Amino acid sequence: MSAPDLRIFILINGLMALLMALLLFFQARTYPRSIRGLNHWAIGQLLAFFSTLLFGLQGLVQTLVFAGMGNVLLVLSGAYLLVGTCRHMDVALPRYFVPAVAVYAAVAMVWLIAGDAPYLYRLLFICGTMAVLFAAHAAVVGEYGNASLACRVLLTVSVLLTIVMLVRGVTAWVDPPASSIFAASTIQVVYFASFSFGLLLLSIGGVLMATERMRGELEYLVSNDSLTGAYTRRALFALGENEAARCQRLGTEMAALMMDLDHFKNINDKHGHHVGDMVISDFVHRAQTLLRRPAILGRYGGEEFVALLPDTTREEALRVAERIRQSVTTDPALPVCQVSIGVATFNHAAPDTLTALIDRADTGLYRAKQLGRNRVEEALASPSTHANSASTSTSPL
Ligand code: GH3
Ligand code: MG
Ligand code: MG
Repeated sequence: MSAPDLRIFILINGLMALLMALLLFFQARTYPRSIRGLNHWAIGQLLAFFSTLLFGLQGLVQTLVFAGMGNVLLVLSGAYLLVGTCRHMDVALPRYFVPAVAVYAAVAMVWLIAGDAPYLYRLLFICGTMAVLFAAHAAVVGEYGNASLACRVLLTVSVLLTIVMLVRGVTAWVDPPASSIFAASTIQVVYFASFSFGLLLLSIGGVLMATERMRGELEYLVSNDSLTGAYTRRALFALGENEAARCQRLGTEMAALMMDLDHFKNINDKHGHHVGDMVISDFVHRAQTLLRRPAILGRYGGEEFVALLPDTTREEALRVAERIRQSVTTDPALPVCQVSIGVATFNHAAPDTLTALIDRADTGLYRAKQLGRNRVEEALASPSTHANSASTSTSPL
């Protein structure tokens, strides 16, 4: 069987790179700016396309100049793909990385071509350089990527491309190829095919990674309040129902804190809405740091927040509530704002629901407001076994 014409591979490779570049440019224009790296991946694919055009023209027009420029563009394409991945994963690369790679590749090519070096040396240069770039790519994804499908695709493809480059370099060294890129041998065909599909898969990995990031950001926006980062009311109930079911199944305690900032209207009126927003964010940040890991903090509305504390007893809940009440802002630019908190715990002795639990905490909050604010209170008329106990901020817990 005769080896296929390598120009076909190069042409297919180029067209695929061009299509991927267009797709990535489109994503870069339509996705939020927070999803970074897309433009660099697109430029990487576009450079791969131009490089294949130059390779394809070899033999038809000025061979060596086109080969040299093709190789420089190919190296730059690998550099841009690496920069794209680094930007996507917030990994810092020196600003001069791409120019340095461009100068390195151009100088090497001029030296090889001016010195009339055989094709073997150009092949060794490209295999060695690309192996280093793909290995760096694999190292970045391995170190900073997550366990998502996209990252696993990127990591696997980067490792495979590194191996392909190294194997091609070694086989070329052991058995030097004929004088032209198009002198088709089985190893040359395998090398081109793996390289072409590798580049394509690398872009698919990039597209997947950007899509996963986009989905993550949308999910965050749906379930987290944009001002404070606390869960939205919808997410609070969804997560709370799960935890409530788990606690009831296991017979463990669960507590709810209903928190409302005191005289918050005055803060808005006196300092403006912007400062009011900062006071709310500051309060949520303080509350988050005082709540233990499985706690769910959600914005119930306006300056009202609910914290659900799974596996937490009444006494622990009162203690946490008291710590939140006592905490004050550390930002000297913000006015002091106090908080009233209602506390309730799950009643295992009778059928209970999450809504009923939050309602009881709300009744406790109402009491706290009635009794003068800046207090922690439980509901008096609660169905729970400890319903009639009420604690106030003035008594140490
Ligand atoms: P109380 O001690 O009884 O809770 O008094 P209050 O002034 O806090 O009373 P109320 O709950 O009626 O007022 C809450 C105010 O919070 C009204 C609303 O304009 C303001 N508010 C709600 N959400 C936001 C927000 O996201 N940013 C700012 N700046 N203000 C908000
Ligand atoms: Mg209030
Ligand atoms: Mg309120």
